[in-house]
Amino acid sequence: MDPNPLIACRDCDRIHRHVAMPAGSVAWCTRCGAPLYHFKGAPLDRNLALCLGGLILFAVANVFPLLSFELQGQVRQVTLLSAVTAMADAGGPWWPWGSCSPAGSCPC
Ligand SMILES: [Zn+2]
Repeated sequence: MDPNPLIACRDCDRIHRHVAMPAGSVAWCTRCGAPLYHFKGAPLDRNLALCLGGLILFAVANVFPLLSFELQGQVRQVTLLSAVTAMADAGGPWWPWGSCSPAGSCPC
């Protein structure tokens, strides 16, 4: 495979060689001045930042209540984890290990 593949300008179709450039720089067409491609930085840095951001959002989503009900002065808040455990206690057919729930309330 060619280490410097060819790239065509989207506006004027001039052919250029794709060369490595510093992060954050932009390659421009030599004929019409249109942007050819962008170098956004190391992909590992971006992926690591996205993974860490996802982990932080996952932790926040599991800590704060998903739903909140108030009925006759009683407030009931449901988090994602409490909803999953309540459904497991109910022994619904969604449970992946058959009809038995982890709470042991299974009739079988
Ligand atoms: Zn061009």
